[in-house]
Amino acid sequence: MPASFRPPIRGDKASKRTVSQTAASNLRQEDGTVGQLLEGKSSGVISISPTETLANAVKTLAEKRIGALLVTDETGALVGILSERDIVRKLASTPGQTLPQTVAENMTPKVVTCEKSDSMVDVLRRMTEGRFRHMPVVEDGRPTGMVTIGDVVQFRLAEVEQEALQLKQMIVG
Ligand code: AMP
Repeated sequence: MPASFRPPIRGDKASKRTVSQTAASNLRQEDGTVGQLLEGKSSGVISISPTETLANAVKTLAEKRIGALLVTDETGALVGILSERDIVRKLASTPGQTLPQTVAENMTPKVVTCEKSDSMVDVLRRMTEGRFRHMPVVEDGRPTGMVTIGDVVQFRLAEVEQEALQLKQMIVG
């Protein structure tokens, strides 16, 4: 046994031990929220009326470079969601007759929404279960933003990178 080695004895684990960093102090205790994600995104929602045509919906999707539109009525209430996937499906089933159809006939009327206080992990779970890539954010019954699967992945990656950095700092001390 090297002379410098002394086996642990009773009392070594006394509460005198001081640590500047612990797993608890270093690792995130709470999941990121929808509100935090929205802070890094341009605000506002892009919506369309249910009485508009798909031709206009396609134009807006292309101009705004987005994949889905919120469908709102004249009072601003959310009445559906129309994604590029709905339009592609319809193009296949009604070739040459799709673009004059209305948004109302093609949207999904039962929209799954989230709130700013919801955790991103929960939103990701609901998107995966529902197999859709868009989740409107609603406040007081009104749509105030949109979270996409791309936003969620980007946000989660940044969190994972931050956690990895914290773990490295813990190891280095
Ligand atoms: P997406 O993957 O978002 O392009 O949408 C796939 C399908 O799910 C389309 O029929 C959409 O209308 C529908 N959809 C998209 N987002 C939602 C949502 N948040 N709640 C309910 N249905 C949705």
